[in-house]
Amino acid sequence: ERAPVAQLINPATGGKGKCYPLTSLDEALKATERAHAVQRDWRKASFADRSAVVGKVAGLLRKRADDYAALMTEEMGKTLTDGRAEIEKCAAHCDWFAGHAEGYLADQPIDLDGAGEAFVAFNPFGVVLAVMPWNFPFWQVIRFAAPALMAGNGAVLKHASNVPGCALAIEQLLRDAGLPEGLFGSVLLPSGDIAKLIESPHIAAVTLTGSVGAGKSVAAAAGGVLKKCVLELGGSDAYLILDDADPAAAAKVAATARMVNGGQSCIAGKRFIVVESLKQKFEAALVEAMRGYAMGDPSEEGTKLGPMQSVAARDEVHEQVEASIAKGARLLLGGEVPDKAGAWYPATVLTDVAPGQPAHDEEIFGPVAAIITAKDEADAIRIANDSDFGLGSGVLTGDPDRGRRIARDELDAGMSFVNENVRSDPRMPFGGVKHSGYGRECADYGIREFVNIKTVLVK
Ligand code: NAP
Repeated sequence: ERAPVAQLINPATGGKGKCYPLTSLDEALKATERAHAVQRDWRKASFADRSAVVGKVAGLLRKRADDYAALMTEEMGKTLTDGRAEIEKCAAHCDWFAGHAEGYLADQPIDLDGAGEAFVAFNPFGVVLAVMPWNFPFWQVIRFAAPALMAGNGAVLKHASNVPGCALAIEQLLRDAGLPEGLFGSVLLPSGDIAKLIESPHIAAVTLTGSVGAGKSVAAAAGGVLKKCVLELGGSDAYLILDDADPAAAAKVAATARMVNGGQSCIAGKRFIVVESLKQKFEAALVEAMRGYAMGDPSEEGTKLGPMQSVAARDEVHEQVEASIAKGARLLLGGEVPDKAGAWYPATVLTDVAPGQPAHDEEIFGPVAAIITAKDEADAIRIANDSDFGLGSGVLTGDPDRGRRIARDELDAGMSFVNENVRSDPRMPFGGVKHSGYGRECADYGIREFVNIKTVLVK
């Protein structure tokens, strides 16, 4: 009997791409066992040795940036320009953790007032199962893997089923950089088999970046065997546009936030909550800014909007737009499926978005900006927080002190940026609250998710 395969479809053309044989559950379980065995030595490797490998990963990423970017274009439609930037971001992330892991994980003394010597040590956790999405095929994996490996852990990657080439390329990249064979394994497994992997005695913890549904099922499976998990889930990031904001500058930040990765980003701005007095000016400015994202061949330099990841995902976004219009939203730009093969959808702006419409209540994972009107600042904050999600958020204002207060104290989100679009950075903790998940990635908080925070006392 032939092994089942993943048949890829090129999102830009609708044509058939490569086929990849899937990993059997048995083989995947063996990968967890292998990673577990190898991790026992890796946990004893010095920070200098681990840094040498992770630093080499950075060098190889930079050398192979064009190839990896092309692979992402082929599998999920990312523009080449965005792909190259993603690879550079991965390299910088590796450099950061190669240089800073030792400091983040240094023993922390505790003063017991003469009652003995006490300290906290951060020991590796073991092998972490990483379930990852397709939208940033390299970044999502490296964001987790660089700190996890630096902390002395191993990993098994179950990547999204439409990016198997990226999954295997990452495994090969780590091997080429000198990571011990088997410490990081990629398995091309259907998501229905994930619970079985979580149950493997060789898996210590799970991290998932993906949708709320996937998060719930992974958290339930991990809970059933009492294993820790970190969940980076969806978002419907709100940006407040306050009465003292400059409409053109606010629209520029808003469009940049919305159009990250063609709108397919968890931290893309999705709801733009503008106070009544600025509504018309902001609408006009946002339409102008969004018009600048013309669709084009993702392989061509300078293309600002490629196809979406799949026709099914595009159709879902279009349904959300149509249902919102049927329930009272007004279409200001885009909103029409182009008459050509592939997963194309134009930059779209909806206004008069209100409760009961998908654009208000759900995450739209594509190039669609939703404008919601608020009476004043307090109303805007209320609307922003009236969401199941709490990943990023933003305040656009002419008064940084006002912005700081709202960002710090008022918005229910893991991250709040003033006069900037939310982005991830290895130096800043990244993650959400509510249905956007729990746990953090990046910085000291991120690297300490997958360690045993061990208390030692010596008398
Ligand atoms: P997805 O369908 O949840 O897929 C993500 C990963 O989970 C894939 O590897 C997928 O495998 C697996 N998966 C799917 N259903 C599962 C289940 N029931 N049990 C276990 N694993 C399952 O998400 P997506 O549509 O690819 O990505 C978009 C979502 O991810 C959005 O909601 C977005 O906001 C969120 N996201 C969050 C972050 C963050 O950092 N917070 C970053 C990026 C994306 P298969 O592909 O084989 O189904």
